[in-house]
Amino acid sequence: MVNISAKVDDGIETVPEALPEKHERRRISILGATGSIGTNTLAVIAEHPEDFEIEAVTAFGNAESLARVAKKLGAKIAVISDRTSYNVLKDALEGTGIEAAAGLAAIEEAAARPVDVVVAGIVGAAGLSPTLAAIRAGSRVALANKECLVCAGDLFVAEARRANVEILPVDSEHNAIFQALGQNRIEDVDRIILTASGGPFREWTREAMMGASPAEALKHPNWSMGPKISIDSATLMNKGLELIEAHYLFGIDAKRIEVVIHPQSIVHGLVAYRDGTMIATLSAPDMRMPIAHCLAWPARGRDTNLGLDLTKVGRLTFERPDLDRFPALRIAREALAAGGWATNVLNAANEVAVAAFLAGTIGFPEIARLVEETLNEARSTGLDKTPATIKEVLALDKEGRRIAGNAVQRYATKSARP
Ligand code: NAD
Ligand code: MG
Repeated sequence: MVNISAKVDDGIETVPEALPEKHERRRISILGATGSIGTNTLAVIAEHPEDFEIEAVTAFGNAESLARVAKKLGAKIAVISDRTSYNVLKDALEGTGIEAAAGLAAIEEAAARPVDVVVAGIVGAAGLSPTLAAIRAGSRVALANKECLVCAGDLFVAEARRANVEILPVDSEHNAIFQALGQNRIEDVDRIILTASGGPFREWTREAMMGASPAEALKHPNWSMGPKISIDSATLMNKGLELIEAHYLFGIDAKRIEVVIHPQSIVHGLVAYRDGTMIATLSAPDMRMPIAHCLAWPARGRDTNLGLDLTKVGRLTFERPDLDRFPALRIAREALAAGGWATNVLNAANEVAVAAFLAGTIGFPEIARLVEETLNEARSTGLDKTPATIKEVLALDKEGRRIAGNAVQRYATKSARP
């Protein structure tokens, strides 16, 4: 197993530092500070601002909202990816003493500023190079951005090992498994279990799903999240990405990672041990919990009012996922078995397909179909070589997007026909 929590120095595990009792402030940077993960991180910080000092906040294009976040947190620097928004950001920060910068290189530089924890909350493979910059600078990473792990796989894990930094999972299922693993030995684990709510279409027929609109797909029953992960939750590709994420994070063979549908989203993840014991992590479906856990780790977070009343929860139910109605989960499992090239292409194609669905260019069932076709074409055109460097990861990602983009054009032309 990749020990994602313990630092290893010359083969000797050292216990990472908890927040001291009279806590020094923990220094944090937030990549993707204006998104859903960013906003939840802000909410955690707002509960106990005295615990934190904010170094950098970044966003893609909404300069006004980034400036608001930077001012609220008293960040030292705010970086916007889109260079054309630089002047708006600079003007909005005028007189605050907060530095403004723009462009990908500036995001990477901000991510590399020395802090205790970098929250990786960018969506998509776009988060890869900034997250790697944080890792290479030696900062602990609270990882929400699962796509960067899915597209870079073993190389991402190797970078974290080389830099001797901990990758703490923010994704609720992985955070739950991380907590359920505790100090137990990975050799004693029989399997790990990721739960899935089943998304908004859990009870829809295949025929009904054919006409599903973006608005219907965005309506998640239990979680409020950014648009991309909401669509991934509707197709169950999110669980597929999480299966791959779990494999790389915990170093567990895919055969020993199970997915069960649990519509109440109270049990987030379980570890089944070889002795027959199962340890589960339960909490309200609220991202503030795993975020607070990662920010305080290895201590526990402070008091909250997010505790559960089990008698109000009542019933917890579990069922098998339906791979016929939700083929994305099967496709992701097959990609993981095929290797790092396939998880990379799967992620790229899925990002393209989700964007096309949200833009109304392709239908809901075409998301999974497009991903599968892209994987087949990548294989048949000789792209089925697992990248050996991050540069090759980025090049393959680009190729995957190109193939998927062509498929979108084909689908769009087909559906435009009378
Ligand atoms: P979101 O769309 O709400 O926010 C994304 C953030 O990233 C925004 O701040 C945006 O400005 C920034 N961003 C987007 N594209 C960028 C680019 N090309 N370059 C730089 N910055 C960019 O997304 P989210 O729901 O917060 O999800 C973020 C990540 O966390 C995703 O990988 C998602 O799978 C994961 N995650 C989210 C949740 C959740 O509850 N939202 C739960 C688990 C995991
Ligand atoms: Mg999750």
